[in-house]
Amino acid sequence: MPLTEPMKPTPNSPPELAPLLVFGAHPDDIEFGCGGVVAGETRAGRAAHLVLCSRGEAATQGTPAERTAEAQQAAALLGATLEFIELDGDARLEVRSAHAIKLAGVIRRARPGIVLAPSLVDNQHPDHGRLGQLVRDATRLARYGGVAELREWPAHSIGQLFYYAVTLEAEPAGITPVLLDVSAPEILAAWTAAMEAHVSQNRGRNYVELQLTRARLHGMRAGVGHAIPLFPNDPLVLGSFAQAGRGARRF
Ligand SMILES: [Zn+2]
Repeated sequence: MPLTEPMKPTPNSPPELAPLLVFGAHPDDIEFGCGGVVAGETRAGRAAHLVLCSRGEAATQGTPAERTAEAQQAAALLGATLEFIELDGDARLEVRSAHAIKLAGVIRRARPGIVLAPSLVDNQHPDHGRLGQLVRDATRLARYGGVAELREWPAHSIGQLFYYAVTLEAEPAGITPVLLDVSAPEILAAWTAAMEAHVSQNRGRNYVELQLTRARLHGMRAGVGHAIPLFPNDPLVLGSFAQAGRGARRF
């Protein structure tokens, strides 16, 4: 399989349907952390591209080849395209400017409206928080015209950066989340199937049930079936209260 697969060009996408770009440190992180959001967006007509920064080669369960195949199947179930990029490898990721520049190149190619990355919480797999930092830096570098390594592609400003939590423990305590309602049956089914595609990881623990239960709890907070929390890196800007939706409290 080629290391990078080309993105479908989407230069004329309306801004509200600009592609979704999601970064994961390991082959299952995106599905477990925010797969329902990806499934919901692709079913609403938005292109989604997943970028994985290792093949899970340090894992106890599953070979890199198995993990790669599972990730490809999961991405297809979510309706997303997938590419792998080489950084330092599983359990070896370091925060370095060269990596942030490389990820900025991915952002310039994909030209996303929304970018999702693992949360910055420290007490989780060290690759998760480090990748979150790298993606945060990359979103900034992607719009800087003078970075020599990036001149191949035009500069790009994303609309929003959100963090997802791969596990409950990775949900940042100090950021009020945005709750994405994923309770539509077809979205929930696609998300569940994409998580189940990671057969090697589900051998050790019932991660699917764990994530569905977490989403059920967030859903109950908001009066919907299941919801996935995303944590904005910056204050969200609204044009008017018409875009504000409603709060989870339900008053
Ligand atoms: Zn992971």
